[in-house]
Amino acid sequence: MENTVLIDRNEALKRFRPISGNSHKGVQGHALIVGGSYGKMGSVCLSSKACLKSGAGLVTAYIPKCGYEIVQTALPEAMVITDDYTDHITAIGYKIKVDAVAIGMGLGHHSDTQHALYHFLKMTAIPMVIDADALNILSENKSWFEMLPNQAVLTPHKKELERLIGSWNSHDEMIEKVKAFSGDFDVVVVVKGAPTYSVYLDSVFENTTGNQALATAGSGDVLSGIIAGLLSQGYAALDAGVLGVYLHGLTANIAVPEIGHHSFIASDCINNLGKAFL
Ligand code: AMP
Ligand code: MG
Repeated sequence: MENTVLIDRNEALKRFRPISGNSHKGVQGHALIVGGSYGKMGSVCLSSKACLKSGAGLVTAYIPKCGYEIVQTALPEAMVITDDYTDHITAIGYKIKVDAVAIGMGLGHHSDTQHALYHFLKMTAIPMVIDADALNILSENKSWFEMLPNQAVLTPHKKELERLIGSWNSHDEMIEKVKAFSGDFDVVVVVKGAPTYSVYLDSVFENTTGNQALATAGSGDVLSGIIAGLLSQGYAALDAGVLGVYLHGLTANIAVPEIGHHSFIASDCINNLGKAFL
């Protein structure tokens, strides 16, 4: 399609910023990962770990009480704030200063959680990744689109996208609808698939990394954590989306010659992030 920029190694390097020698965790960015519900705490572990391994200085997970020991045990590097409720999130209250948020992974769609998302969007204007169940809740409450913070990064796969913007008949029509949606609400839309497209207003970026190994549980949770990690370090929303997608795909390109498509799981994506950044 015309005016589509292919994101290859050169384009990724243009956006990449090394970490300076005198950096410390207080300036590397503090990301908040909001998600999880009973039986779905792994999504928060994956997203939080990917966020830390993408350079965020500090990561705090906001989760329902049932996930406290799970996240603290799985990820000693993360801090945890728990909701008052056991099985799902009912309010998103925290008194810390954070630089970026990823919300939605494993969140569920309990009516109390929907209420919590409404108030959170109403009150929060920091860089944000919106994924998974948070996208689905938005799809059921389309008037809430108006509350999205400027340049929020939405990361729908095709089914989630269809719920957000309705169906399409061709690839070109899909891209045109995504551009219009991006313009209407000033959001970056990362349309996940093979390949993934990142769209902001009239600009379209086609990713060149990744393969079918990524078609595995938790893969998208890792991506939202990577993008939140980049946002927390001050990357602009579109750069965080484009670079995050490139690095996420690159982990699969690096890992597949060693472990193949069948055995690659989302944790392998995280474990190869270091090599992807290198
Ligand atoms: P999710 O469905 O939210 O877990 O996200 C899946 C992630 O894996 C997205 O980033 C997709 O782009 C990626 N992915 C899934 N299947 C493929 C594939 N066949 N080729 C490349 N990337 C894929
Ligand atoms: Mg997903």
